[in-house]
Amino acid sequence: MEVPQLIKAFSNETNLQILSILRSGSFNPRELARILQKNETDISRRLKALERLGLVEGRWIRVGGRNVRIYSLKVGEIKITFKPGSVVIQTLKEKSYEIPLPESRAPAVENLFGREEEIRAITSPEKRVVIVYGIAGIGKTSIAAAVFKNAFWYQMGEMDSFESFMWQMGLFLNTLGYRLLLEYLRGGDREEKAIYEIALEGIESTGAEVVIDDLHKCSDDKILHFLSFLAGRIQKGKIIILSREKPNLGFGEHILYLPLGGLKIEDAYKMVKMENTSIDLQKFAEIYNLTKGHPLALKLFTEAYRNNREISRSNIFDFLFSEVYGMLTEDEKFMLQLISLFNEPLEYEAIRRLYKRKNVFAVLYSLLNKGVLERRGELYFLHDLLRGFVEEVRDISEKKYYREYIGYLLEKGTAESFLRAFGYAVRIGDREKIKELITLRVKKFKRIIQDFPETYMKVLVQIGDNPYAKKELGHIYFQKGLFRKALKLWLEVKDEINGIHRADVVSSLADVYMELYEFEKAEACLKEYEEILKSNDDPEVKLWYYIELTKFKFYMENPEEALQSAFKELEIVKNLETYPELESLVLLHIGDIYVSMERVHDATRYYLQALEISKAYSLSFMEHTVYFELAKAHFHLGEYEKAVEYSRKSVDYFLKVRNYRRAAGSLGYHCVSCIGLMRLKEAEESAEEMIKIAQSTDYPLGWAGYIFLGAIKNLRGEDGSEYFRLGKEKLKDQKWLYDAVWEELGRVYNGGKR
Ligand code: ADP
Repeated sequence: MEVPQLIKAFSNETNLQILSILRSGSFNPRELARILQKNETDISRRLKALERLGLVEGRWIRVGGRNVRIYSLKVGEIKITFKPGSVVIQTLKEKSYEIPLPESRAPAVENLFGREEEIRAITSPEKRVVIVYGIAGIGKTSIAAAVFKNAFWYQMGEMDSFESFMWQMGLFLNTLGYRLLLEYLRGGDREEKAIYEIALEGIESTGAEVVIDDLHKCSDDKILHFLSFLAGRIQKGKIIILSREKPNLGFGEHILYLPLGGLKIEDAYKMVKMENTSIDLQKFAEIYNLTKGHPLALKLFTEAYRNNREISRSNIFDFLFSEVYGMLTEDEKFMLQLISLFNEPLEYEAIRRLYKRKNVFAVLYSLLNKGVLERRGELYFLHDLLRGFVEEVRDISEKKYYREYIGYLLEKGTAESFLRAFGYAVRIGDREKIKELITLRVKKFKRIIQDFPETYMKVLVQIGDNPYAKKELGHIYFQKGLFRKALKLWLEVKDEINGIHRADVVSSLADVYMELYEFEKAEACLKEYEEILKSNDDPEVKLWYYIELTKFKFYMENPEEALQSAFKELEIVKNLETYPELESLVLLHIGDIYVSMERVHDATRYYLQALEISKAYSLSFMEHTVYFELAKAHFHLGEYEKAVEYSRKSVDYFLKVRNYRRAAGSLGYHCVSCIGLMRLKEAEESAEEMIKIAQSTDYPLGWAGYIFLGAIKNLRGEDGSEYFRLGKEKLKDQKWLYDAVWEELGRVYNGGKR
C-alpha cells in the first residue's frame, strides 16, 4: 500500500466520514452523498480513490437493465509498524474505530488560562447536564472545548432546525457504532416521540458527550423541547449547554447551572503577560478593573495596548476594538467587513471567492493572529461581540456579496447548502432568484420536502406573499397530511404561476383531491393537465401526469388502465437521469395493481424488481416495504414459508425504526403465515407483539392479535373464545378491519367466526 497517499487519504475528514458510514453496510454513492449532505460527484471521486488504496471495495451490480456501483468497507483497522529499513502497513478486518465529524468537532483551544474550579464542576460525574451561561466573549466555548474534546459539538445557528440537528446527531452516533437514529431518519419517518427516544437511547448506550454551543440563538422550539426531555432522562451520557441567557431545562441533582464570570486576576495577568511582556502592574490593575477579567476584552487590550494610548473608561469594549480596528490595514478591514456580513462561520474557499484579492491567505492569518477572527476547524468567523461593531462601520453592499455567496453555496450541490442559499436569497428579497431556486428544488432537490420540511418551511414563511413560495408550502402541508391546508394554498396560486410550476400545482391538486376522495375534481385536474402537456415536452412534466393518472385509475377500480399508465411512468423514469426511489416505487405500484387483478405471480415479479433496486441503492425503507408486500403476495399464493421469511424481515425493520403501523401489518402476515405452517409458538409471539403495539399506540390493527391468539388456542385444542371476544370488542368500531382480519385468517384456519 502506498504510504504517503494513504496518510493523505486519512487526513481528510470527508474520507473518514465515508469510511465510518460504510461500516454499517454497502452503499451506492448517491445515498452516501445524501447521508453526508455532500455532492455526489465528489463522493464518487473519493470512493474511487479509497478503492485504489484498498480501503473500500466497489462492485457493479446489474439492476433494471443498468449497472449500479456499490461500495463496502474492505478493512476494519490499519496497523503501521516501523521496522529497520521499512515501514509496514497492515490492514486488519472488522475492528471498530471512532471518527469525529468535522462539523461536530470541538474547536481547538491553544492556551486556556485559569478556570480550574469551573472545570472541576463541569466534569463532575454526578452532573449529567451542565449549563454554562454568561455574556459573549466570557469564555464559555473555550472552557467546554478544552475539556470535552471528543464531544459531539453542535454550533447553533439562527436557521437551524430540529431535523438538521438530529441528522448531525445521527451521523455522530453512527460513528460511535449506534446506527438506529440515522437509519430512522433515512426511512423518512418523523415521529417526534420516536426520535426523542431513539436519540436518548443512542446517547445513553454510547455514553456520548454532547455540547450545544450558543443555545440562545436557537429559534426552533422542538430543539428546546428535546433538550428538556434529555435533561430529565439522561443518566449515562453527558449534555453541556452553552448560552448567553440562562435557559430553563428543569432541575434535579444531576443538573448544574454554572454562571461564568471573568478570569481571576492572576490568570488574567498571565494571559496578558504572554502576549505583552512590557506591561507594568499598575497598568494591568487598571485594565483588570475595567474588563473584570473578560477574556476577549483582555485579548483586544493586548492588541490595542501596543498603541500605548490612554484608555477610555466609557464603553471599554468598543473603545478597545476601535483601537484595534483603527490599526488594521485596508485589506484587513475589508475582509472583516466581508465576514461580518454573514452570521455563520465561513469556509476558506468561500472567503477566497468573496474577497477576490490575491493576498487572502496572509490577511486571514494576520487577523487570526491579532485575535479578531476566530477559527473552528476549517471555518472562520468573527466573534459575535465584534460583529456588532464592524456592522456599524461597514460600507460594503450586502446584496452583491450575498449573491456571490449564493452562487458558491449552490455549486456545492447539497440539500443543506441549497437551504442556506435560499435563506440569503430571501434576505435580499430577490424575487427572480427565489423563483429560480424553487425551480431547482422541484428539479434537483426533491427530497428536501421529506428530509428537511421544517427548515424549508422556515425560509419559505419569511418570503411573504409570493405564489411560488406558497406552492412550496403546500407541498410541506401535503407531506404532513394537512390536505385541506395544502389544497387552499394551491387553489389560491394556481392561476398566478406558470411553466413547470403550474404543472406541479395542477398535478398536486389532482393528488390532494384523491386523498380527500373528491374524484370528480381530481378528474377535472387531470383534464386540465392534458392541456399543459400539449405545450410542454419536459419528460418530468409528463411523468407527473402519469403518476396521478395511475393513482386515479386505480382508485376508480380500473386496473387495466392503471397498469397502462404505470408502465408509461416506468418508461419515463428509466429514461430520466437515475431516480431510483421513484423507479422502485413505480415497480411497487405495478405489483399492487397486479394484486388487485388477482395476478399475484405477476405482482411478485415486479416486487422483486423493486426490491433489487432498493437494495442496490441502499433505500432501506423501500426495501422493507417491498418485503412486506412480498410477504402478503406469497401468503395469498399459499406459499407460507416464503411469507414467513419476508414478513420476518419487515417486522424486524419496522419495529427497529419504530414504525408501528407498518410493524403491526407485517406482524399480522407473519402470524397468519406461521399459523398456516402450524408453527404456533412463533405465531403466538407475533400475536402478542401486535397486542403490545395496540396497547401502546392504540393502532387498531394491533388488536387483531387477540383474534389470532384465539385461533392459536383453538388449534391447540384449547378454548380461544375469550380472545375472540376481546378482539371483537376492541375492533367494534372498525367493522371492515375486523372482517378483513377474519378473511385473511380464514385462508389458514377454519374455526368459527363469532
Ligand atoms: P464565549 O463562548 O463565551 O462567547 P469564547 O470562549 O469564544 O467566549 O472566548 C472569547 C475569546 O476569548 C476567544 O478568542 C478565546 O480564545 C478567548 N478566551 C476565553 N477564555 C479564555 C481563557 N480561559 N484563556 C485564554 N483565552 C480565553
